[in-house]
Amino acid sequence: MTKSILINSFAIVLLAIVSCSSPTAKSKSAVKPEATFYQYNIWAAFVNKVFDGHLKVSELKEHGSIGLGSFDHLDGELVMLDGKAYRVREDGVISEGKDDDEIVYADACFFKSDTAVLLNRFMNYDLLRSQLNLQLPTANHFYAFTIQGVFDSVTLGGLHKQSPPFKQGLDVLIPQRPVFKGKNVAGTMVGFYCPQFIGDINTAAYHFHFISDDKKLGGHVMEISSGKKLTVNLQKLPHYQFDMPASQTFDTVKFDKQFQYNKK
Ligand SMILES: [Zn+2]
Repeated sequence: MTKSILINSFAIVLLAIVSCSSPTAKSKSAVKPEATFYQYNIWAAFVNKVFDGHLKVSELKEHGSIGLGSFDHLDGELVMLDGKAYRVREDGVISEGKDDDEIVYADACFFKSDTAVLLNRFMNYDLLRSQLNLQLPTANHFYAFTIQGVFDSVTLGGLHKQSPPFKQGLDVLIPQRPVFKGKNVAGTMVGFYCPQFIGDINTAAYHFHFISDDKKLGGHVMEISSGKKLTVNLQKLPHYQFDMPASQTFDTVKFDKQFQYNKK
C-alpha cells in the first residue's frame, strides 16, 4: 500500500508538506498518465537510508514505459525501457525484473516524444548537458528523455546490495559504487530533468540511466561520449505524482544528509 498525491508541478513542495491523502478515483482520473512524471519515494529519504521499498515492478509499469531507479535493498539499478524493467546487479549482470520484485526508488513516465532534436557530438557528459539545456523550452518544467545510438564510451555506476539495519546512506555508498565501462556501445539513455525548485525531493537537473541494446551493459550514467550526432527525444511533463513508501523506515527517517549529482 502506498499513499499518493497528485499535484500540479508548480505546487509540489507546498503540497508535499501539507497533504498526504489517500488516492481517490477522482484524483487519479484528473491527470493524464501519459503526461505525468511519476516518482516513488523521496530522493532525500533514499539518500538517508530508506532502502526498503515496496513498489512492485508490476505497479511501476502502471505508471510508465520508461524509468530509472533502484531495486529494494539496492539490489540493482533499475532501467526501464519499452515497458520492461531491467535490473543491473552490483556485478553488472542484467536480468529483467519480475512482477513481484520490489523497488525502493523510481522515476517513470509513459514516454511519448513531443520533440526530436539532432545533437552535435559530445565528448563528455557536461557537453551533453549543455546541449540539452539549449533544447529545453524552459528550465522550469519537468522532462523525460531517450537518447538512442552508438556511444563511443560509457561509464556506468551500480550500487552494492545492502542488508538491514542500513548503516550508510547514498552520500557514502555512491562514491564507493561499482563502475562498469564500455566502448562503442549501442544502447539507450533513459532519463529525466527536474527544475532546481525540486530541492531534495528528487535529483535536480539531469539523471540518466543506460542500457545497451544487447542488455549486457547498464547502470547509472556517470560519464558518456559520442563522436557522432545522435537524436534526443524529449517530452515535457506538466504533471507530477509521487507515492511515498509505507514503511517505518520512511516514517522515522531523519533528513540529515544531502546528496545531489550535478545541478547544472
Ligand atoms: Zn541513477
